[in-house]
Amino acid sequence: MPKSNNNNNHFPPKEKGFMVFERDTPHYKDKGERVRHYDEFLTDFDDRKMAEQGYRCMNCGVPFCQSGCPLGNIIPDFNDFVKDSKWEEALERLHSTNNFPEFTGRVCPAPCEASCVLGIIEPPVTIKLIERSIADHGFDDDRIKPEPPQKKTGKKVAVIGSGPAGLAAAQQLCRAGHDVTVYERAEEAGGLLMYGIPDFKLNKEIVRRRLRQMEAEGVTFKCNVEVGKTVDANDLEKEYDALLITTGSTQGRDLPIPGRDLDGIHFAMEFLPQQNRRVSNHPIEGKELLATDKKVVILGGGDTGSDCHGTSIRQGAKHVWSMELMPKPPEGHNVNTPWPLWPVILRTSSSHEEGGDRDWSVLTKEFVGENGKVTGIKCVKLNWEADAAGRMQMKEIPGSEFLLEADLVLLALGFLHPEHALPNQLGLELDPRGNIKADYGKYTTSKKNIFAAGDARRGQSLVVWAIHEGREAARTIDIALMGHSDLPGAYTYGYDAVELAAK
Ligand SMILES: Cc1cc2nc3c(=O)[nH]c(=O)nc-3n(C[C@H](O)[C@H](O)[C@H](O)COP(=O)(O)OP(=O)(O)OC[C@H]3O[C@@H](n4cnc5c(N)ncnc54)[C@H](O)[C@@H]3O)c2cc1C
Ligand code: SF4
Repeated sequence: MPKSNNNNNHFPPKEKGFMVFERDTPHYKDKGERVRHYDEFLTDFDDRKMAEQGYRCMNCGVPFCQSGCPLGNIIPDFNDFVKDSKWEEALERLHSTNNFPEFTGRVCPAPCEASCVLGIIEPPVTIKLIERSIADHGFDDDRIKPEPPQKKTGKKVAVIGSGPAGLAAAQQLCRAGHDVTVYERAEEAGGLLMYGIPDFKLNKEIVRRRLRQMEAEGVTFKCNVEVGKTVDANDLEKEYDALLITTGSTQGRDLPIPGRDLDGIHFAMEFLPQQNRRVSNHPIEGKELLATDKKVVILGGGDTGSDCHGTSIRQGAKHVWSMELMPKPPEGHNVNTPWPLWPVILRTSSSHEEGGDRDWSVLTKEFVGENGKVTGIKCVKLNWEADAAGRMQMKEIPGSEFLLEADLVLLALGFLHPEHALPNQLGLELDPRGNIKADYGKYTTSKKNIFAAGDARRGQSLVVWAIHEGREAARTIDIALMGHSDLPGAYTYGYDAVELAAK
């Protein structure tokens, strides 16, 4: 939206763009309409408006946004190309650091925008939206083609787990000329992009079109194969020159309080993938979970909890409550997390806007039920206070106990670590948190030529970090196999070829 009358086609000088144009983003479709389906719901935003948003980037001397982005995306460059509607150049620049901008452009929390210099005095540049539109333009204009390698190396790499970390690594390794096979236990590749993140946040056809590109480049996908169970990991170790483990952090945090064994209490990840499967017309194994006509309580206020919230509303829940143990964060601004840090502030997702209620500083004491089925949860309100060392301590508020009725309880309390069957079979060391032990930037595990990246190594994180680690691990593997690598890895401060050869 122009701040001043700017109806002619002449844009101001670049450095004044932010003085003329306000931050603008496409709207969400009406919530009454969007909760009736599982499609994405952003309204259209034309190229001229997008150019205006690109114009708002000041091209400042030190682009903090770029270091705020875990991928090191070259944000001022692509903002500038979009300002001039140079979509091809923008795509080329974006792909040079990010294999999958169509995913991050949809689901990334955009730490880049929190560190945008313009954000000090004005709403930041809408970087995530620009990224998404560059990627979507690329596919719509048929510019994103398979890029098979010019030369083959004869080396074979197995990637175990096909989430964003495994996919990014597989694409990089394939383009470096290695024969790459991705093993995935689910029936379709994509990890949490396919089974976990709801379709209304990320349409699965968007994942599939990228998988098709990778297959055309030469990546082999073997789905319905659980390494460690369906096939022995030690056989893969013998068959391949290198293994990369990207199996994610899938062990959900439980709540072992009285009544936990009642029927109707489930992990979020028992519930969410079922809805992905319904949308994709995949069969649902085991007990079907639906929020329809139920009083739903979601424990845990993060991304996963928010996804359960929006999914329950779409399924026609009678009521949805999202409860959080931690105190309500400040609204708008938090003095403890100033620019360019990620601001710890109250966030209201599109799912929260769609209905239901939220509450904070609530401790769940007990699940209660009848005839073996959950009917409610006993809760108490908390006071959070800093102790002498500045650590936040919780204290129950006397007399604040209450009972919340529930016939479906979803546990969205985070994830502990990866499952251990596979690393145990390979005899890999774990770190104190139960993740696969491999240093950040190096990705080498306790065994030669076995590498680990993504949530299985770093613990529960974000798509953008998974892509970053997958790209970096691919470079380390390439160096280990070939003695050098032409794969990009500007951020790698891991091994160089000499160190790796000595290992
Ligand atoms: C519900 C939910 C919503 C989220 N929303 C967001 C969001 O909006 N934005 C964001 O940035 N992040 C989000 N995240 C986090 C993000 O999805 C993860 O950080 C990211 O997917 C991790 O990528 P990964 O490749 O390491 O692992 P994953 O995506 O977890 O993929 C691991 C894959 O390995 C497979 N696998 C495991 N064991 C084996 C085996 N033995 N053999 C073969 N295959 C195996 C699994 O089936 C899975 O497909 C969300 C997470 C959840 C749970
Ligand atoms: S990947 Fe995320 S942090 Fe990086 S530029 Fe895109 S939205 Fe920003």
